[in-house]
Amino acid sequence: MLNEIVTHIFQATGQRLINPHQQPVSGGSINQAFCLSDRSNKFFVKTNTAPRLGMFEAEAIALNQIYNTHTIQVPKPICWGITDGFSYIVTEWIEFGRNGNWSQLGQNLAALHRVTTSSGFGWDQQNTIGATPQINHWTSNWVDFFIEHRLLYQIKLARQKGLQVIASDQELWQLVPPLFQGYNPQPSLVHGDLWSGNMGFDQLGTPVIFDPALYFGDREVDLAMTELFGGFPSQFYQGYNQVFPLDSGYQSRKTLYNLYHILNHFNLFGGSYGSTAQGMIKEIKG
Ligand code: ADP
Repeated sequence: MLNEIVTHIFQATGQRLINPHQQPVSGGSINQAFCLSDRSNKFFVKTNTAPRLGMFEAEAIALNQIYNTHTIQVPKPICWGITDGFSYIVTEWIEFGRNGNWSQLGQNLAALHRVTTSSGFGWDQQNTIGATPQINHWTSNWVDFFIEHRLLYQIKLARQKGLQVIASDQELWQLVPPLFQGYNPQPSLVHGDLWSGNMGFDQLGTPVIFDPALYFGDREVDLAMTELFGGFPSQFYQGYNQVFPLDSGYQSRKTLYNLYHILNHFNLFGGSYGSTAQGMIKEIKG
């Protein structure tokens, strides 16, 4: 398996690893990750089962798309494919440091969010959030998109697992639109899964984001997720607001946006995420 990946890296970069060494990397939630290196080069590799190739393809396309915006640093994708019954993706290795510039992370994310499209909300690829499919069919109306392709998709999966969060789909169609009165979000290129486990700082302190669940959506989804598991330091939000100030109604939509991720966590991991989701619906109902 390693030989084929090494050859693929050589084809993509012209760099041939001599006596490559494989070192596991922890911290991921879905894939096996390792550092593939020799004396002079290092690469980041993730592997999964062969049918997961589509997930890595979408990740590579997403990383390239973000990379090409020149707004925020991401690991550059190098190659991806199948070998020995495994799918893999290889990206540039990032040497993560301990600290960095949170304000710059906010500013860079805001610059990413300034990237828009005339195609509406969605993306050209279907991708995944964790291991769950994420549907990105282009939709002109954001509220329709978020209800249909984000909340209801997860709610249906949750129902199959025995969790009831709303009495009917109709209830959701009544509950959500009032939160958007006077607010008309434009499509922004969003990371889509922006928690502290999917960002870091390189040795120079420059912010890096990775493992995206990319699409064009309301930028508030990324801000909401940064607050879901503890929140980022205040410099991050100050930096963000300097470049692209948030709408005053953001706070009232935050729980709705994070409900998507909590439902996804329930669908992936079960446990108390179910009652957390039910509590969030109660909060949204007011
Ligand atoms: P998963 O898709 O399984 O969630 P991640 O893409 O989040 O995996 O990566 C797992 C861990 O590997 C991260 O938490 C981070 O510490 C590290 N990592 C991710 N990308 C790189 C990279 N390009 N270079 C070095 N380490 C990385």
